[in-house]
Amino acid sequence: MENPAAEWKLPWDGGCRCGKVRLRVTLPPLLTMACHCTGCQRMSSSAYSLSMAVPTPGFQILSGEPVVGGLHGASKHMFCGYCMTWMFTRPEGLDSFVNLRPTMLDERGWFVPFIETYTDEKLPWATTPAVHSYATLPEWSAYDGLVLEFAAKGARPR
Ligand SMILES: [Zn+2]
Ligand SMILES: [Zn+2]
Repeated sequence: MENPAAEWKLPWDGGCRCGKVRLRVTLPPLLTMACHCTGCQRMSSSAYSLSMAVPTPGFQILSGEPVVGGLHGASKHMFCGYCMTWMFTRPEGLDSFVNLRPTMLDERGWFVPFIETYTDEKLPWATTPAVHSYATLPEWSAYDGLVLEFAAKGARPR
């Protein structure tokens, strides 16, 4: 990867449904995911949530002020305070990346989840093209390998 910004067509801009919160991504994602857990089903109002793990230094809020929603717990589920779009999550104890919902991005047609999690809780018909499926979450020891595999083979913007 000689020039990650060119290979990934960075930067990417995005925003919530109403546009009051706008954001920018300037570093390539580490991994992309779909989560079938019942919590994600409820918060996404859909069959599963979509995430991309963006390195924290590569994630900026350009305008608006996201507010904490969801469980108001140790993992911070961040929403637009006006349109209540679930935009991103700051996961508990993991300051190095932000889990952005990729459907916030203005250009998102290229997005493909590389792994899917909590298939134990999925709706029977809900399928994704993820390369790796997990009944719950991958073992912690698997993440380094998944990040390397995603860097080599994960979908890029076209
Ligand atoms: Zn909004
Ligand atoms: Zn989930």
